[in-house]
Amino acid sequence: MRKKIAKLNLPLWQWLAVILLPIGVAVVASYLSAQYFVEDKVKGIGAIYVSNIDTLLSHSDKIGHYALALSDTECKHLYNYMLFQPYFRSALLFDSKGVYCSSKTGNIDVSLGIISTTENLEIPNQFIIYGTYFMPEVPAIMISNWDPISKHGAAVIIEGQYLLDSFVQPNVFPSAVMSVALSINGKTIPETLGFLENEVMTLDSEHHNFSLLLEMSPAFFWHFFWIFLAVSVPVSITVITGSILFVLYSRVTRHSLADDIRSGIENEEFFLVYQPIIGTEDGKAQGVEALVRWQHPQMGLVRPDLFIHIAEESQLIVPLTNYIFERALADFANMEVEAGFKIGFNVAPEHFTQSDIEAKFIHLRDSLARIGVKPLIEITERQLLTEDICQRIERLRQLGIQVAIDDFGTGQTTLSLLQTMSIDCLKIDKCFIDTIGHESVTSHVLDTIIELSHKMNYVVVAEGVETQEQADYLAYRQVHFLQGYLFAKPMKLEDLKLWLAAERLS
Ligand code: C2E
Ligand code: CA
Ligand code: CA
Repeated sequence: MRKKIAKLNLPLWQWLAVILLPIGVAVVASYLSAQYFVEDKVKGIGAIYVSNIDTLLSHSDKIGHYALALSDTECKHLYNYMLFQPYFRSALLFDSKGVYCSSKTGNIDVSLGIISTTENLEIPNQFIIYGTYFMPEVPAIMISNWDPISKHGAAVIIEGQYLLDSFVQPNVFPSAVMSVALSINGKTIPETLGFLENEVMTLDSEHHNFSLLLEMSPAFFWHFFWIFLAVSVPVSITVITGSILFVLYSRVTRHSLADDIRSGIENEEFFLVYQPIIGTEDGKAQGVEALVRWQHPQMGLVRPDLFIHIAEESQLIVPLTNYIFERALADFANMEVEAGFKIGFNVAPEHFTQSDIEAKFIHLRDSLARIGVKPLIEITERQLLTEDICQRIERLRQLGIQVAIDDFGTGQTTLSLLQTMSIDCLKIDKCFIDTIGHESVTSHVLDTIIELSHKMNYVVVAEGVETQEQADYLAYRQVHFLQGYLFAKPMKLEDLKLWLAAERLS
């Protein structure tokens, strides 16, 4: 691990960024989460209070209607009735002149101005009063009902103190709500609000005319902020710092894998294996495909899928391919093969951008000709075939070197490319061969590719043939050559020699 980190070789400010970024993200995430958590909690508590007060107000309305139905002489009924209503201070009956009946004292004669100087009791309403005739210093909510026919009204008074007491939460620290106030038409219980320096949430009742003001507790917020932070900092550092280091490290190793490829070419760590290509007519090997392998000093045997694309990205595919040509020439220098035997080489389009490409291919062609072998250039389509590259490939054919499109049907080859560039051979990718025996859309694609090749006079090679059923079907469809594990896996030179010798004897 230490070695890996040392390899990154980052300047101090980048290290700071790698560490501070996840901490910053964790702080912001914890802040927002704690805020959301507190607001959610306060809303939940507030909703319970609001619903309790709603119930109380609805109940007071019922009392009001009961009181309105009483006749002048039944004042004592109101007294009896209110004895069993613990949350209510009193109920009063009044007409336009004054209060004439109270559940506290029975018949009375008090002017209206004493209980209210600002509110119009003739309009059904609820409002806050800070003092009444009986309890001048204790605030209360007054709910009035007016009967326009008999022109008298009833007022029910709810203890403000009772409400404030009910707002007291169980003594659990930290509690989300520090204090609560009730507000009706701009008046509040308690009368003065001492808590305005903290954040306040306002909740309105949907059924009655009042709002609750809930003072949110900073202690509650910070309590959860620190808990969230304690969890999110390690998670964030692991995920973000880990990902950044992973990306940086894989970039560095990618870079060093390119370095390894470069030194691998110098140290001749690459070698070739050969996979026979079988003619469908006589069932004999008509050639081989050369496939590169890398004996990496530390990683061991590396498959081409892992390093060819890195070689392509880091401009090393050209020296690697040149090395492969030389290696094949050396491998085959003392081999005896049938005249016309072919060696297929995989060549990326980028290879054709070299200036001395022609001389290199002439050298390959002539050296192989000396031992009766012909090269077949298999062009992979991982990079785009530009017009310039197409022209150079065309030039190859003029030099008598055959050209095949590899993995046909999977890359960027389009039918229009086949129109503009003349080629000799199509290699059909294994994924199409795999569809043989299965009724699918792709199995029709296989038939279409074969028919197209016949019409265009291409030599057709099927890759990845693994079963006799596939081989029989392809022979029936007049595919010219077959390649795959059914016949032979790619082999080292020594094994290939034995394999060819055994085939000759059979
Ligand atoms: P490719 O050119 O399509 O090569 C055929 C691949 O299919 C080879 O894999 C071969 O071992 C494998 N194969 C052949 N018959 C069968 C079969 O019946 N079943 C299965 N499952 N696989 C089969 P390999 O050697 O690992 O090469 C992978 C790819 O790497 C090649 O695909 C080619 O694109 C690239 N590559 C290999 N050698 C070179 C090279 O020298 N130069 C360049 N530029 N690319 C190369
Ligand atoms: Ca190939
Ligand atoms: Ca293939």
